[in-house]
Formats: sequence, C-alpha cells, structure tokens
Amino acid sequence: MSARNGSDDVARAARALGARLPAALEPLARLAYDYAWSWTPGGEELFASVDPYRWELCAHNPVRLLTETTEHALAAAATDDTLVGRAREAAARLGAHRARPSAEAPETAFFCTEFAVHSSLPVYSGGLGVLAGDILKEASDRALPYAGIGLLYRQGYFRQRIDPSGWPLEYWSTLDPDRMPGTLVTTDGVSPLTVSVRMFGRDIVAQVWRVDVGRVPLYLLDAERIENSPVDRWITSRLYVGDRRFRLAQYALLGIGGMRALRAMGLDPAVVHLNEGHAALAPLELALEGVRAGGSFDESLAAARARTVFTTHTPIGAGNEAYSAEEMRIVLGDLPDELMTDEKSMLALGRARAGDATEPFGMTPLGLRVSRAANGVSEIHGRVARAMWAHLYVGIADADVPIDAVTNGVHVPSWMAPPMRRLLDRHLGESWIERAADARTWEPLDDVPDAELWDARCSMRAALVDYARERAAADRLGRGESMEYAEAALRAFDPNVLTLGFARRATAYKRLYLLTHDRARALALLDGEQRVQMLLAGKPHPQDEEGKRIIQSVFELKWAPHVSERVAFLEDYDMRVARRLVSGCDVWINVPRPPLEACGTSGMKAAMNGGLNLSVLDGWWDEAYDGTNGWAIGSHPVGSRAASDHAAQDATDAAALYDILEREVVPLFYDRDANGIPRGWCARVRASLRTIGPRFNATRMLDEYRTRMY
Ligand SMILES: *Cc1c(COP(=O)(O)O)cnc(C)c1O
Repeated sequence: MSARNGSDDVARAARALGARLPAALEPLARLAYDYAWSWTPGGEELFASVDPYRWELCAHNPVRLLTETTEHALAAAATDDTLVGRAREAAARLGAHRARPSAEAPETAFFCTEFAVHSSLPVYSGGLGVLAGDILKEASDRALPYAGIGLLYRQGYFRQRIDPSGWPLEYWSTLDPDRMPGTLVTTDGVSPLTVSVRMFGRDIVAQVWRVDVGRVPLYLLDAERIENSPVDRWITSRLYVGDRRFRLAQYALLGIGGMRALRAMGLDPAVVHLNEGHAALAPLELALEGVRAGGSFDESLAAARARTVFTTHTPIGAGNEAYSAEEMRIVLGDLPDELMTDEKSMLALGRARAGDATEPFGMTPLGLRVSRAANGVSEIHGRVARAMWAHLYVGIADADVPIDAVTNGVHVPSWMAPPMRRLLDRHLGESWIERAADARTWEPLDDVPDAELWDARCSMRAALVDYARERAAADRLGRGESMEYAEAALRAFDPNVLTLGFARRATAYKRLYLLTHDRARALALLDGEQRVQMLLAGKPHPQDEEGKRIIQSVFELKWAPHVSERVAFLEDYDMRVARRLVSGCDVWINVPRPPLEACGTSGMKAAMNGGLNLSVLDGWWDEAYDGTNGWAIGSHPVGSRAASDHAAQDATDAAALYDILEREVVPLFYDRDANGIPRGWCARVRASLRTIGPRFNATRMLDEYRTRMY
C-alpha cells in the first residue's frame, strides 16, 4: 500500500539519487533526504568528506552535493573505506531511529510561517523559525508523532549586502526545489497532491513538499502551479512578502490550505499548535468540516477550538498583524459563505470588541479566540501578553487572563559545537543528551578540569576567528573596500583575545547603538592593554529605515583607531553565521529595551557552548540569571518614569554595559594562573552550563508543552 503522506515519495527520491551513485555510497542518498544528519555528530563531516570544496559551493545541501559533485570525486569517495563505513553506520542508525515505534502522545500538527531547520532550506528569518525548527527536531529525537506545516517560499527570506557607506541592501535568490532535500507529495507516485483555497475570488492551487526532519515530516505548501496566474504564484514567493494582501493570502494558504493538505494526506491531528497568529485561520477550516457535516458554525468552531493551542510571540504591537475589513473582503471575501456564517461574525473573531466595525481583524485576537489554551514564550512575556490582550477578556483581571508561559529552549544537538559536545560526552555519561532536562545530568561538570573546559573554549574561539577573518575579508572586498582594509581583517582577529558577540535582528528595540553610545569608552575597550575584539551581525527588515540607519551609524566608526582590526560586521546573518558566532564568542551581549524581548534564544545557544551572557534582564535572562552565571544590566522597572524616558534609559544601560565590561568581564578573562588558565572565568562558564544547560533546552520546553498545553 502506498502512503499518501509523502513518505514513499521521499523514499523514491532517495532511491533515485542512490541509483546514480557508486554502490558503496548509496547509503548517503537516504541520509541526504533526512535532515537528521545535521544534528548527528559527524554528519556534517561525512558529507564534507565526499568533496569539501563542492560542499561549500552547495551551501551544505547534501542532495546538491551528491548531484553536482564530479564522477571523479564520487569514485574516490567510494574507495575510501572510512567514509564508506561511516556512511553505512549512519544510515543504519537512522533506519533504526525511523523504525522506532512512535511514543504514546497526541498527534500534533505544528503550524508556523517559518521553519529554521538548516541553512540550506531558506524558509526562515530568525527566532520564530529557529524555535519551530528546534521543536520539530526535538519531537523527532523523542519519536513523538508530530508534523510541521509551513510554506515553501521560492525566494526565501531576503539576503543581505552592505554598501560602502554601511547601508544594508537586500536581495533574493531563487531556490531550486528539485535540488532541495525534499520532494513533492504525490497521490500515486506521479501526480502531485494539490489543495485549493478560494482567495481574491478565485481558486488558488497549491502543491505540497515534504522535507524529513528526522522522523518528523515538514510539509511546505507552494503556489507555484500552472493553474495559478503569475501574480497568484507570488503568494509563496517570499517570507513576509511586502504587500499586505499577499501576506494575508500567505496566512490563509498556511492555515486553511495547510489544514486541507493534512486532511488530503490522511492526517487527523488531535492537537493543532498555532505557532504565532499567522496560521490562526486553520481552526476555521476545521470548523468548516463540522459545518459540512451539518453542525452549526458555533458548535463546529467550539469543537475545533477544543483541539487548538496557540503560542503568541511578540509583545510589539506592530508585530501582531491585523487587516482591515476591506483587505479581508479582497482576499477572503468568499470565506464567510463557505463557513456558512456572515462577514460580521467572522470579522468579530479577530476583533477585541465584536461589534466595532472600525476595528481591524487581528491575527493574534483570532488565535486567542480559536484556541483552548494559549501561552507566551517567557515568564515576563506571559505577563506582558496577559496585560496586552486583557481587553479581549471582559471582566477578567489582567493576572487571570488565560495566557500561560512556556519559556523557549534550544535544541542542544543542533546548537552545541563539536568541541563542547565531545567534552560533555566524555564527562556527562552515556546518552546524556536524552537526559538534558534533568539538572543532575549536568552535575559532573563540577569535576571537569578547568584545563579541559578552557581548551574546548579556546578551540571554538579559534575556529570562529578563522571563519571571521575569511568572511570579513570577503565581505569587505565585496563592498568595494581597499585591499589594505580587507587585509586588516586577515591580520586582525586573534584566537587568544576576548571575543564579544552581538548578532540579532537589527530592529531599533534591540539597541545595537548602545554599543557605541559612548564612543570614547567603546574605543578605549578596543585599545586597552587587555584587548577586546567584537563580531557583529544583523539584518534590518527591508522597510525598516531606522534599523538600517543604526547599522550605518556603527559603520561610521570604521576609521577610528583599531576598529578595522578588532571589529567586523558579518553580512547576511543566518543560521550558519549564528552557529559560528554562538559557539566561538566568549561573551554574548543582548541589550533590548525591556519588556520588548519576548524571550530571546541566541543567548541560550551561546550558553550551551560555554559562552557567557551579558544581557538586560528581560525575556529568558530574567529567569536564568543568578549572579554567578553571567552578567546582568538591571535597566529600569517597566512602567517606571525612567523607563518611559528612552534617552535616559539608553544612557544608563549603556553606562552599565561599559562598567561591567571594563570592571568585570575584561579583568576576569585575563586573570590567569601559572598555566595561563583563567580560573574565575572557567568557574563562571561552569556555573552558566550547570544552570542554563538543564533549563533552556528544547527537551524541557517540549515537556512543558506536552504536560501543560496539549
Ligand atoms: C537563534 C537565532 C535567532 C534568535 O535569536 P534572538 O536571541 O532572539 O535574537 C535569530 N536569527 C538566527 C539566525 C538565529 O540562529
């Protein structure tokens, strides 16, 4: 019997690729079609060893590697006994993992507009996608019956270049889905399975790609179909496409189309998890099934609601998208009829005051209305979200608004670099990673000698420095800078120097500009006897002029003494750059304006690698900081007079940042014993791993979702 859910289609694609390889390399083809390799120790090295040069050219996409590498390289690899043995072993392990029976758990469909699984699948922008990708990977590791539902953007998210004046520019590159490690879901091995959604007064057709994230299938809907006009195909062109109507159409395709696709594939999820409001139309599609079966709209919606949980992610007003009645009519004018309800009742679902015709249709209010449980992504964010949406719950005090908190966590096998993983594999015992959410697992860290811990840190920093030298030199030449300026990058970064990192979405509230708030103090840090070097990265949204100006103002310092040698801005921040930065930086800086950081996860990734956080007490850091495991900037209590005076808040927070760097961070890093080991620093690294390791990982997060939300 052939499965309708695409599993046969992926297996067929892997066989077809395998048939083109020398027999000894066939196991690589199955590995290539399952992203589990990307978080399995040795997985990346295995593919790289086939053809290291091509591996880079193919942007670490194993299907492209095996398709595009030369006959000669394949023949050589096929005679490499070590490589062949490793491939066979890895394929056997993967096969065994895939054959495990599923854990007893509700079948869960996880909807999200972006998924960050790997840099070679560019359907993500940042933190939201990373969280979604990490949840799928964790679900796979634990054999939970999950499926991810998203969209396949043919041009992905924008890429970034910086012009010589420091102004960020964006461009898009087109994905070739036939070279992606995934395949179209078919009904019979040949014809693509399609679904259609009525938008703009016509039926828009989408096909469905399946990408295996370990055992968990990720389904991506794609409007690039011959039935659709070129304009309609644009719906799945770009993540967070500029035109609001296209964006609304994306969300409708994701929610309604996604649910239809699941049904067409024979899936009937017990839990529908809406990760952010974008997919909040999905429960309406579930309700529609009830309506078709003869139920009333209200009853059917109540039944759909009983299966739906919702996670809100942004405490920023503008991040919660809302559409006017006119926009709703243009894009989804036929939906009320389909639901056998009227426009007013449907719009009321997305309004705070049902009868207020002037109020736009908000995706977050909709998400809250159509789900039986909701949560924010840190304790602080839970409180902020309760206050923010209290007006939807008439007669309920802020504190009783039914929005819970599940603090984010990161998928440790994806984000912990090999030197730290090897160190912990040696000391934390057999399969410690499966017990990562148990504080006792991390106790043996106390017995890890400082020398070993420091050695791991130094090798990760050295790897980052190598990478940063090359990247910075290439970026500079690409911007049209002089040869001397590019060479400064090669000479500069030093593997033994305290390395600070700051990388995140370059929007105003992240306050990158605090780093240069006091120019003299910032430059003095670079020029001190005890040196500091710094790596920056970040992409402001194409329409975010303010974010772009902030990046440009940092570039204005490029000719100041030592800046060209000790500071680099790495262009085009993505998962690959992030992985390098979070593993190699000694200190990870985060200075958002509270309480606008819903959670933050990059600092957790840094901590998993033995990096230390220096952060404003907002989001997850407010829960994690205990005085011994990093550094905190207190900022002002939210709601206080001082906190509403942004200029004053910036000045105090910047001063606190420099104070901590000058008085604590730099001296501690350079305070060495007779063997050159910074004992005090190592103690902090150990405290950070011990306290953050067990709590801010995806294992604990998924446990909480399962016990409290599902
Ligand atoms: C982890 C990650 C993020 C999210 O980190 P924040 O701490 O929320 O800024 C964003 N972008 C990329 C590429 C990441 O890997």
